[in-house]
Amino acid sequence: MYKKISILLLLIFSQTLHSNEDVWGRVGHQVIGEIATQNLSPNALSEIYKILDGQSLALVSTWADEMRSNPEFRKYNSWHYVNMPLDKEYHEIIKNPKGDIIKAINKCIEVLKKEKSSKEMKSFYLKYLVHLVGDIHQPLHVGRFEDRGGNDIKIDFLGKVSNLHRVWDTQIIEYYTLDYKSLSNELLNKQKTQVSLSPKDWSFESQQQVKKIYSQILLKKNINSEYIEKNFSLIKSQLHKGGLTLAAVLNDIFKK
Ligand SMILES: [Zn+2]
Repeated sequence: MYKKISILLLLIFSQTLHSNEDVWGRVGHQVIGEIATQNLSPNALSEIYKILDGQSLALVSTWADEMRSNPEFRKYNSWHYVNMPLDKEYHEIIKNPKGDIIKAINKCIEVLKKEKSSKEMKSFYLKYLVHLVGDIHQPLHVGRFEDRGGNDIKIDFLGKVSNLHRVWDTQIIEYYTLDYKSLSNELLNKQKTQVSLSPKDWSFESQQQVKKIYSQILLKKNINSEYIEKNFSLIKSQLHKGGLTLAAVLNDIFKK
């Protein structure tokens, strides 16, 4: 009897995991949260501590994806990405009336900067900000409309059916079975780079990467270990940049 129940629970649990899969994997978001934390100003650290009741950025970084299975959060689905033709920049595209990642990030920053915003509002928008700065650094989150950011491009990942979006969200990172602490420690030793405070710049930079990803996949629809090894360095540099960018934005929001 117990065995049956536990198998059932396991099934339900694994299905829940699956429904959340098409998102910069858990580890990717946590790495960005951790790198940001290590680069925060003392004032930003203490403000964030108050808003999140001591929860870490790494911990809250995946909350926005966990809430996607909640019907009340469906209206925020379009916040996680922006679809753009490869030859157009954000200011040239027809905007999604339901919102997009750039509008959402700007909204988060606006609410967090306002002293009058309630703690509850600040907590909601801070959790989204941490998550979305991560998402926008995953190049397929600014992918083309016609293939839904690579979700509709079926490919073979090491012999298993997959899609391009999922490969870049989770499968390449998972291949290395790294926990977020060790990956963040590795990246925290890297030379820091200058980052922009403008979400439009972040989407532009991701778009330059996604162009390369699309053209590579045109030549080859099966992903082998060579592809994974070649592209993991890009993922790592995007995670590093995402973490530094998140820190810069939070330091700017919570500057004295
Ligand atoms: Zn997301």
